[in-house]
Amino acid sequence: TGAVTEAVLGALAHADSVRRLEVRANADTPEDAVRARALGAEGIGLCRTEHMFLGERRALVEAMILARDATAREAALAALLPLQRADFTGILEAMDGLPVTIRLIDPPLHEFLPDRTELAVRLASATHPDLHDRELLDAVERMHEQNPMLGLRGVRLGLAVPGLMAMQVRAIAEAVADRLRDGGRPHAEVMIPLVGTVEELRLARTETERVLAEVEAETGTSLDLPIGTMIELPRAALTAGRIAEAADFFSFGTNDLTQTTWGMSRDDAEASFFPLYLEKGVFGVSPFETIDREGVGRLVEMAVVAGRAVNSRLETGVCGEHGGDPDSIHFFHLAGLDYVSCSPFRVPAARLEAGRAALTDTETSDSR
Ligand code: PEP
Ligand code: MG
Repeated sequence: TGAVTEAVLGALAHADSVRRLEVRANADTPEDAVRARALGAEGIGLCRTEHMFLGERRALVEAMILARDATAREAALAALLPLQRADFTGILEAMDGLPVTIRLIDPPLHEFLPDRTELAVRLASATHPDLHDRELLDAVERMHEQNPMLGLRGVRLGLAVPGLMAMQVRAIAEAVADRLRDGGRPHAEVMIPLVGTVEELRLARTETERVLAEVEAETGTSLDLPIGTMIELPRAALTAGRIAEAADFFSFGTNDLTQTTWGMSRDDAEASFFPLYLEKGVFGVSPFETIDREGVGRLVEMAVVAGRAVNSRLETGVCGEHGGDPDSIHFFHLAGLDYVSCSPFRVPAARLEAGRAALTDTETSDSR
């Protein structure tokens, strides 16, 4: 096995020396970040923050979203801030010197408010002994959606809940300032999810810059954090030139982009009609696994070209599941992306594949 290990390490070293695509990992805990780094990840392309709001913090999140007044909301946000700051400090420490793209919260609301009846009763009995409290039940009712995946998620939630975006950005900024003070080399980037129009991104960017400036003034540090967006809605890809005016980077969320381009639920499609579609040859492989070059892939190519035309320094990557899929990695190489980001355990294979893509590309252009 010593010889096998040596051969694998040799192949990886060779791939690393020829590949043009950078390989980052999707990770949202310091443990995953350490694992990813050991497997060769060159940064975190997607740190999802919504998982950080579940578990013990759930009650705070419910209180924040359903708050009846500003005081209650601010109390919940104030309690969440130090917890978030510690989350980010740990990850920045594990990834010291490498980029960490932190995505602001993007939960479909049903993940936080799963059973509105139970929630209403629980909240009402805990905080409001009067179970007929109409106002509170109305708040819970308002938050119910028939299609949460197409609802109050991503930037929409950030813009709708006062103080939520500011709390997260402050936690990131303070974590960066802390690391700088400790002699670290933090490279955090702020990523805005589910943007459909440049106006949403401008609003989010203005708020982000306001909070960054505040923390800079308080800490006397200069925080030069890139601010970018996910491109995961067809409208975002189609208007990428406009969106690039307000973005330092694009990260393609091919999970949502596939879901919204095909109009197929990423949670349900594979279990329902996919076997029939595979059998009838509508497609040979799930578009959620391998990039659909004619549809979703075209949107990616168009958005890269349009974005770079407006901002020649625009950084581009992909952080959907496709970022770890071999065939898709070849496509992303040809589309000219700067990096792919995938689950930590897929990082070594992604490095190899990115190397093969570069070699295949050279051979093809040599024979032309
Ligand atoms: C995506 O949509 O591809 C993505 C990376 O974001 P998430 O899977 O968290 O929606
Ligand atoms: Mg997404």
